[in-house]
Amino acid sequence: MSEESYNAYVSAQKQFDDVADLIDLNQSVRELLRQPSQEIHFTIPVKMDDGSSKVFKAYRIKHNDARGPAKGGIRFHPQETADTIRALSMWMTWKCAVVDIPLGGGKGGIICDPRNLSSGEQERLCRGYVRQTAKLIGPVIDVPAPDVMTNAQHMLWMLDEYEAIHGGHFPGVITGKPVGMGGSLGRKEATGYGVIYTLREALKALNIDIAKTSASIQGFGNVAEHAARLYTSMGGKVIAISSWDNNDKKPYTFRKSSGLDIEQMAAIKDAFGTIDKAKAKELGCELLDGEAWSAQDVDILLPCALENQITPSCFAGISEQVKVICEGANGPTTPDCDPLIKKKNIYLIPDFLCNAGGVTCSYFEQVQCNMNYFWSKEEVLEKLDYKMTSAFHAVHNLAQEKGLYMRDAAYVIAINRVAEAVKLRGWV
Ligand code: GLU
Repeated sequence: MSEESYNAYVSAQKQFDDVADLIDLNQSVRELLRQPSQEIHFTIPVKMDDGSSKVFKAYRIKHNDARGPAKGGIRFHPQETADTIRALSMWMTWKCAVVDIPLGGGKGGIICDPRNLSSGEQERLCRGYVRQTAKLIGPVIDVPAPDVMTNAQHMLWMLDEYEAIHGGHFPGVITGKPVGMGGSLGRKEATGYGVIYTLREALKALNIDIAKTSASIQGFGNVAEHAARLYTSMGGKVIAISSWDNNDKKPYTFRKSSGLDIEQMAAIKDAFGTIDKAKAKELGCELLDGEAWSAQDVDILLPCALENQITPSCFAGISEQVKVICEGANGPTTPDCDPLIKKKNIYLIPDFLCNAGGVTCSYFEQVQCNMNYFWSKEEVLEKLDYKMTSAFHAVHNLAQEKGLYMRDAAYVIAINRVAEAVKLRGWV
């Protein structure tokens, strides 16, 4: 799921190696943590609606579980690769560690395009995934969640299959479930809101009034939509959104220099984030090339789609006005772009800190499931804000004290926590 010349796993390992050098990480800890600890690659045969059978390729990869059960989403994407999942499983370990929740890192995926599958076919695919992984996942082993193109309904089918196999109720085996079926209030909003909690803190630290800022967003899935909502409710102005058009198989940027109305935009998108072009024009949006989102005169760029989007060539086109890059997606910036961001003195909120709100709320969901007592949305969001704000300041303060780039500071905290756990357990 990456541009051909970039491989997310190579990027994840380079980021890790650079910080391992910086903190002089012990050789065996380094060897253990620079790769996943366990992988399964498998096939899922699915009976299609037309009577034929189709075989899908799938993965579940565990990076590290020294601090708690592996945790991470399952993605559905036609360009999914084992290397992308490997990278994402590593990033999950660092994400859980940087916000200091007792979970490790894992990730899964199925090579498929759910936009072209019926609901029944998606259900059989989800159940097939669990049949193949039923002994490897579990509330105290490895806990999946939604990710790119997967949602609460997929999670519930997976839970149901797991419970049918194991004969009991195990709501902690999967998170991102529907509210009322073991899901947490606020989970839908959590990743996007978390992105904006960290942005709010960054702007405070930079002495910038959020109400005087403008932003451009890549993506209009769950993360981007809720980030845009919270940001505009704090007074910010979103002037451009780029989203993938599944009919034309290419992205478009929707721009309105007076500011987009996020409620209206959300009302004209489909479940996968494709925005209705005709309706957008009626709302007064200009329709630009998909790449144009990154070249807008805005203060904040929010890549909230996929990995490998901010490359040196994309970076060459960004406006002098940009002060903050807020990585809502996993791995949106390529490692060769980090030195350029550093040099331009743009404040970066790195992905595994910036988008940790989703997994933090997943952790709250597990806690609520274990207690069998569910909190109000206000309570969930208050706890989420507290966790994200504390994690942000820990990273920001370290970056200031040691003169580190924000991504490196986040890695230093996360790697040290995981390294300590593997040492304390006596693994190395
Ligand atoms: N898929 C989300 C992420 O990349 C959430 C993972 C989770 O809740 O386990 O952070």
